[in-house]
Amino acid sequence: MQRTLSIIKPDAVRAGHLGEIIATFEKNLIRIVAMKMVHLSQREAEGFYAVHRQRPFFGELTAFMCEGPIVVMVLEGQEVIAKNRELMGATNPAQAAEGTLRKRFATSIQNNAVHGSDAPETAAFEIGYFFNALEIAG
Ligand code: ATP
Ligand code: MG
Repeated sequence: MQRTLSIIKPDAVRAGHLGEIIATFEKNLIRIVAMKMVHLSQREAEGFYAVHRQRPFFGELTAFMCEGPIVVMVLEGQEVIAKNRELMGATNPAQAAEGTLRKRFATSIQNNAVHGSDAPETAAFEIGYFFNALEIAG
């Protein structure tokens, strides 16, 4: 059994897509074992995306992630890291497959509606960034 961190980003929360995104996880038999809404500070967003600090878009990306509340979730299931990435679609919505969350809800490569951990090590770091053990249902 694997866990991954999912984020519904400020653009998708603002546009009112929470329900449809959560329903997509449920319909695909992904179990949500933790969930909360938070509004990140600039520093908190920079800490979360620290792996991207050398990238040219780091400043804009972290500012975007602070624009409004986000919903963070821990998802659980067999191969859930890859399964979630598949449901999300490509980073750039122009390249995202039909029916994926980013095809449906993203409006640009930056404002791309959702985040998902990309490997077991990043999932462990990202889950720990938002949740302690008591906040995750077994
Ligand atoms: P995420 O990590 O959010 O799940 P990802 O793994 O598909 O997305 P990354 O390469 O890790 O993509 O980039 C992290 C985030 O940075 C992207 O989701 C997007 O919001 C933003 N981003 C990526 N590339 C660009 C770009 N060229 N210009 C602006 N923003 C970008
Ligand atoms: Mg990534």
